[in-house]
Amino acid sequence: MQTAQYSGSTSVSKGVTILGATGSIGVSTLDVLSRHPEKYHVVALTANSQVDKLFAQCCQFNPQFAVMVEEGAASQLEAKLESSECATQVLSGKAALETVAASEQTDYVMAAIVGAAGLLPSLAAAKAGKRVMLANKEALVMSGKLFMDAVKHNGAELLPIDSEHNAIYQSMPVNGKAGVKRILLTGSGGPFRQRPLDTLSSVTPEEAVAHPNWSMGRKISVDSATMMNKGLEVIEACWLFDVPSSDIQVVIHPQSTIHSMVSYVDGSVIAQLGNPDMRTPIAYSLAYPERIDSGVDELDFFKTARLDFETPDFARFPCLQFAYDAHEIGGYASIALNAANEIAVESFLDKHINFTEIPQLIENVLQQAPSGTPLVLEEILVQDRVSRQAASLWIKNNKKRTTVL
Ligand code: NDP
Repeated sequence: MQTAQYSGSTSVSKGVTILGATGSIGVSTLDVLSRHPEKYHVVALTANSQVDKLFAQCCQFNPQFAVMVEEGAASQLEAKLESSECATQVLSGKAALETVAASEQTDYVMAAIVGAAGLLPSLAAAKAGKRVMLANKEALVMSGKLFMDAVKHNGAELLPIDSEHNAIYQSMPVNGKAGVKRILLTGSGGPFRQRPLDTLSSVTPEEAVAHPNWSMGRKISVDSATMMNKGLEVIEACWLFDVPSSDIQVVIHPQSTIHSMVSYVDGSVIAQLGNPDMRTPIAYSLAYPERIDSGVDELDFFKTARLDFETPDFARFPCLQFAYDAHEIGGYASIALNAANEIAVESFLDKHINFTEIPQLIENVLQQAPSGTPLVLEEILVQDRVSRQAASLWIKNNKKRTTVL
């Protein structure tokens, strides 16, 4: 990776804030930025608790602000920075995430916090009219219309970072969706596409996070293994491209070379291809409508032996069907789906439930969700809380059942 010292804003340089800088997407974003010090400077970097990693990033990129959500971690970071030459100001707490996302110095916001924790800061960026580069799909799954309205009414720009949605964005007509027949959303099928069904209950967290093609954070890796990730992406695509879920066909493509496609009424299919590396969609979103070097190697067709395609197996991956169902039922169900999934994945990674209990838990919580769609943020946050409580209760009761057996 090239290194660069950032000296601050110039008239052409864009100020970038990275929410979730210490994560997989955050690190890839900094890698792309380091290749273009003349075009971008870092305004703020945020993390939850990884002090040493954020400290190293501050030393390299010299942001104006660093946010650590945990207060103790913020104090540790402050102490480290004081004994360094870096003048970064440390803020702490959840509200500080919104402050830096909406700050005047920020032009572009990389929304790469994992899970529901990313909703408020991502929304703050949209309300402040920023270019929002959205990796945090959970925010859109939870708040759908509210988020899209915030983008529209505040002059924000929304660019999808998920490789599939970025590919669709690149394959769509320039204005609107005239002539589009359907979206073909590709997915690798994850590490358990062919694993014998009767062994799925003994999958370990280590096996689940070992994705065959992509290097990602732990939560999205487990989501990929259950295919909930693809389900969340179906909902994300519905909101981003304003299409019903019936117009989105999931296509299993194990090589992850085609990142998604758009099928047109005249028989054309337009696809975006490339090596599986998130720096491509990140660079696209930073430079849009121009193109910049991302550090990703050109796709070598002569080494791409084959491209395979399969229909998804909904029986093996019930989470994918739950996502289609939740989106049809309405906003409350999508919030419940996401909340239950976050609790289920965390519990699986902590070895409190097994892999096949993830969909069981989600189905149970989904059944308790009301129909309809929340109209205001407070209703979204209440449903999120209620569904998390329902999921935790399911785990508690499930543990009791297993102990009795
Ligand atoms: P990681 O787990 O690697 O990183 C998550 C980041 O969020 C870290 O910086 C972490 O800080 C921070 N964070 C975690 N919890 C909180 C919290 N409660 N409050 C504030 N910050 C928090 O995740 P990924 O980078 O893999 O994914 C990020 C998002 O991007 C997800 O929504 C994912 O679905 C999406 N995405 C990721 C892709 C990938 O290739 N990784 C591809 C497409 C989408 P700390 O390090 O201190 O814990």
